[in-house]
Amino acid sequence: MTLRNGKEFLMIPGPTNVPDEVLRAMHRPAIDIYEGPLLEATEYCQHGLKRLFRTEGKTYIYAANGHGAWDAALCNTLKRGDKILVLESGRFALGWGEAASVPGLNVEVLAGSWEEGVDPARLEDRLKQDAAHDIKAILVVQVDTASGVWNDIAGLRKAIDAAGHPALFMVDTIASLGCLPFEMDAWGVDVALTGSQKGLMCPPGLSFVAAGPKADKAHETADLRTNYTDWTFRQGPEHYEKYCGTPPEHLLFGFRRALELLFEEGLERVWHRHALLGEATRRAVAEWSREGAVRFNITDPHARANSVTVVRIEEADVAALRTFTKEVCGVTIGGTIGDLSGKGIRIAHMGHVNAVMLLGTLSAIELGFRKLGIPHGRGGIEAAMDYLAGAL
Ligand SMILES: *Cc1c(COP(=O)(O)O)cnc(C)c1O
Repeated sequence: MTLRNGKEFLMIPGPTNVPDEVLRAMHRPAIDIYEGPLLEATEYCQHGLKRLFRTEGKTYIYAANGHGAWDAALCNTLKRGDKILVLESGRFALGWGEAASVPGLNVEVLAGSWEEGVDPARLEDRLKQDAAHDIKAILVVQVDTASGVWNDIAGLRKAIDAAGHPALFMVDTIASLGCLPFEMDAWGVDVALTGSQKGLMCPPGLSFVAAGPKADKAHETADLRTNYTDWTFRQGPEHYEKYCGTPPEHLLFGFRRALELLFEEGLERVWHRHALLGEATRRAVAEWSREGAVRFNITDPHARANSVTVVRIEEADVAALRTFTKEVCGVTIGGTIGDLSGKGIRIAHMGHVNAVMLLGTLSAIELGFRKLGIPHGRGGIEAAMDYLAGAL
C-alpha cells in the first residue's frame, strides 16, 4: 500500500521545488535576442542579483551549473601557478579546489572536519605564516550541502584582516543565497557565486558570479581567462555578449519571476522563513536524537544551516528509509554524499518551502523510523510544532 498520490515534494538540497509561477514564466515561445523583452529581463536580473548578493559590484550570468560559476570565478581572477587556499568543512569547497587544479592553480587545503565550521583562528594562523603573500585567493562555502555546516563568513573576513593578508576572498553561496543572510560588500567578499536551482527556486542551468573592485583589478592580469567565462567580453556593448552567445531565454524568464517572488516576500522575511523552518527541523531532530541511532552531523548548534540539515543515522538501512518516504509517502529526501555516503539523510528546507511541506516531510521521516524499526526518540513532530507555535 502506498500513500504517494498527491503533490510530491522534492526535499533534497538541490535541485529544489520550482514554483508554478516560475514554470509558467518559462512556458512561452522563443523570442528575438537582439531587442524587446529579453533585454529588459537581463537588466532586471543583473540588478536583482546585486540586491541578492548585497553588492555594488558587477554581476555575470552563465548558462551553467554551479561548477561553471566555480570556473568563472577562478579563471577571471588568477594566474597559472597561483597558490589558493581551500577551507574544508565538507565536500564542496574541496570540489571547488579540485576544479581549480585543472587549469593549473596550486591548491592547498586547510584541512577541516565535516562536523564543524571553519575555525577563523586557524585561518588567521595559516595566513600569518604566509609572510610572502603567496596565497592569492581563499575559497570557502557559506553552507556546505554535504555536511550541513553554516560557515561564519564575516568572522573569516575578520581573520583575514587580522592577518593583514591581501588574498582575494571567494565565497560559494550556492546552498545559501536567498535562504540566509549574505552581505557581499559589508563582509568584504571579493567574489561570490551561486546557482539557480537551490534557494533561488529555478530549474538547474543558470549560475551567477558577483565581482567586487579587488576582483576587477585582479582580472586585468589574470591569465587563465577563457572565451566563454571572460568578464571583459561580457561587459561589451552588445546584449548577446553578456551571455557570450545566445542567452538562455527561458531560464532567464523563470529566474526573473523567481526574483520577483523573493522581492515581493522581502529578503529579510525569506531569511526569517528559512530560520523558522530550519529551527523546526532541528527541534525534531533533537528529539529523535534523544535515544537510538539518530544524531546531528554538525556538533556545534550555532553552525547548523537554515537551508539544510544533515542527520547521521547509524547502523540503520538509510536507503530503505529514503525509499519509504519517497515510494510510500511522496517526498524525496536527500541521501548523504562524499565521506558521509550511506551514513544518514539530508533534509533540505531551502527555497520554495512552507510549513506544510516541512512538517509533512518531518512526519514522513518519523513515520519511516517507526515503520522500519529504526531506533529514535519519539515526539519530533510535537517538538517542531511546539517551537513553531511559540515562534509564529
Ligand atoms: C550544489 C552545490 C554545488 C554544485 O552545484 P552544481 O550546480 O551541481 O554544479 C556547489 N557548492 C555548493 C555549496 C552546493 O550546494
